[in-house]
Formats: sequence, C-alpha cells, structure tokens
Amino acid sequence: MSDQHGFSTRQVHAGSDVATATPRAVPIHLTAGFPFDSFAQAEHHFSTGAGFGYTRIGNPTIDAVERKLAALDGGTQALLVSSGQAAMSTAVLSVAGAGDHVVCSDHIYEGSRGLFLDFLARLGISTTFVSDIRDAQTWRDAVQPNTVAFIGESISNAANLLLDVPLVSSVAREYGIALIVDSTFSTPYLSRPLEEGADLVIHSASKFLSGQGSVLGGVVVDGGHFDAARDGARSPHLVAAGRHGEPSIAERAGGSARITYAREVVSSRLGPTISPLNAFLIGQGAETLSVRVRAHSAAAAEVAAWLDAHPAVERVDYVGLPSHPDYELGQRILPRGAGSVFTITLHGGRSAAEHVVNSVGVITHMTHLGDVRTLVLHPATTSHVHSTAEERAAVGVFDGTLRLSIGLEEVGDIIADLEQALAGL
Ligand code: PLP
Repeated sequence: MSDQHGFSTRQVHAGSDVATATPRAVPIHLTAGFPFDSFAQAEHHFSTGAGFGYTRIGNPTIDAVERKLAALDGGTQALLVSSGQAAMSTAVLSVAGAGDHVVCSDHIYEGSRGLFLDFLARLGISTTFVSDIRDAQTWRDAVQPNTVAFIGESISNAANLLLDVPLVSSVAREYGIALIVDSTFSTPYLSRPLEEGADLVIHSASKFLSGQGSVLGGVVVDGGHFDAARDGARSPHLVAAGRHGEPSIAERAGGSARITYAREVVSSRLGPTISPLNAFLIGQGAETLSVRVRAHSAAAAEVAAWLDAHPAVERVDYVGLPSHPDYELGQRILPRGAGSVFTITLHGGRSAAEHVVNSVGVITHMTHLGDVRTLVLHPATTSHVHSTAEERAAVGVFDGTLRLSIGLEEVGDIIADLEQALAGL
C-alpha cells in the first residue's frame, strides 16, 4: 500500500499484510472469506471443496475445534453449528426428509420436542414419541416402513432417565435406522454413545463443552457407521448419484456419509454457521472438559445426597443416587460420574418452589445449564409452561419441581445457599 493511494483505499487495505507466526493457541480466523491464490485454485476449491474459501463452508478455526470435538467423542468427523438447537435440526435433516418418520424419546429437551411438533411436522416429517425407553420392544413397535431415525438423550432433561444406547442401537441396526443421541448432559467425558452403537451424537456446546455460559454453539459428531447395503434403503439421498450423475455421497464418504451430507448440503444450504470466535471459545472450554466435569459431577453427587435427606424435599431425580430407577444402568454406562443437572421436587408445590427461587443468593435463577455457576429454574412455569399438567407429570415435572445445574463454586457454599432457601418450608 503506497502513499499514492487515496484515503479510502488506505483505510481498507493498509496493514492487511499480516506477519506470519505459528501461534500455540488456535488462532481466531474471524473473517468472512479467504482470498484465492489463483484463478485455478478458486476453481479447484469450488469443484472439490479443498481448502478454505468462505466461512459458511469452512474456516480454519472452526475446523480445528471440529477435529478436537470429533476426537473427544471418538467420531470420524464433527460439524460445529450455531447452537444446540441447530445441531439437532441439522442432524435430523441429514437423515430425514418429507414423508419420513422418526421415533423420539418422550424424555427430551422441550426445544427438541418443539422442533418435531411445531416445525418438522409442517415439512412432512412425522414423530412418534415413546415413553418406556428402557424397553427394546417399545422402539421396535414404533418402527414404520418410513422410519429413518431413533432419537434420545443420554441423560434426559429433566428427570435424568438414561438412554440404554447399546440396546436402542441394536434395534436401530435391525432396520437400518440411524440412532441420534443428544449427549449434552453427559458430555464426551461421561458417556460414549458412538462407541456403543449410536450413529450421530449432538451436543449443545453452549453448556459443558464451552463451560463458561458465554457463547452458544452446537455440534454433530458422526460415528462413521453408515453402511450403504444395510442403511441405504432408508437413506436414498445418501446412495443416489449426484444431480449430474456424480458418485453418491456414500460412494465418496463411506461410513461418514451422514456427516458429509450434513456439512455439504444441510448446513451449507440452511446456513447455521457458528462464529469463528464462538468456535474458539468452545475449543478453549473443551480443553478443560474432563477437569470441570469431574468436579461438576462430584459436587452434584454431594448436593443431591444432601437434598435427598432434607425434609422439605419430596424426591430427587439424580441418576447418581441409588434411589433413581436408572441407577444400576448408570453404574454401567456412566462409570465416571452422573453429571450435574438434576431435578428436585418439593413437598410444598409451586409456592415452595417460588420461595426457593426468590431466596437463593449464590445460585443464579436462569435458563441454562452446564455453566461454572450453579443455576436453578422452575420448569413448570418456564421451559414446560406450554405443556399440560399431565404432559409435565409424564416427564417428571411437577408444580414443586426445580431443575438445578450444579456449578463449580465451593460445595459448602451451594449447600448453605440451599439450606437457607429451604429453611422454614
Ligand atoms: N439439548 C439439550 C439437552 C438442551 O438442554 C438444550 C438447551 O438447553 C439444547 C439441546 C439446545 O441447545 P442450545 O440452547 O445451545 O440451542
């Protein structure tokens, strides 16, 4: 850039010849795009997808964090998107299209239920919700000729029911159906759905993966289990030749056909791109995931046991407590801990719950989870406000139920805060 150039030209271009150095931390490539080296490279990029051209299609920061998250979940590839909700939408749309049917656990995040009922139904994707998720026959009975996916949460939001992934995936395999597991509550540190037979795992990276409660993000991770001979009949979009007779996605990507379709078609066409800055922050968080989740789980086990013995508390739905119906299964599939999000139900119903929410000091009243801060929410009047009392009861949400996400403060301070909030109930 020379002094001969005008002011406006200099303000745009001066200083953009960045010095190169190798940073130890993942650099934040906060840019819409990447200049092409040559006419030929642009053509090569657009025809093969090699290299980086435009951040919606690929970005080195996002790519680095995707490789980290794929490695943590033991997957072949990961796709980062803008939120956990976008991850669920992308995962489902990579296996289902108009006229298809999915079977979903009734014990799921209300935002996912809304996605199926309020939105995907309009696109011609129908959903059957199943309640008794521990029974293989329940899943088998729900299968229709057009069923393409089973969906569930590793540890359910809110009552901590567990998905027996080996059991449900074995039914899915019988039919060539994809099993999608939302592993947000358990994280890759506590549960290993892809190794147990799940096909796609999703996380709301806004929660434990980033850990600080500062950004939203979501990730889809593929186990690489797609088998064209077994699964192709229910996934014609993965085995059909391209628009101009090119090889099918399954021919190009093999076992990773689902994530390839998710990346090349669903996310690049719908555009739920994550900001490279948010991807960076998720990558930073993921670097300390095991340390945090160990501490979260240990603190939650202590707080849950204390609450279980409190006279104002009717029940505690924490899968780490021996009284939980899935405790035994948890010992088998969650050997490193039971996470830190659970519900308690108070004898005093809604007014007792309101009193606790209004009395806490250390604990924050907020709709989020997996944060360094301990959070509390009254599901019946917030996340589940649009459900009927019967629908809420079926998923373990009653008038006196509070959801807690235990953070990383001193456990003694969390218990003391609950003690003063529960006093006199
Ligand atoms: N899945 C689960 C289990 C959740 O709890 C949430 C949000 O609370 C989501 C998905 C959606 O994630 P996000 O808020 O990042 O869109």
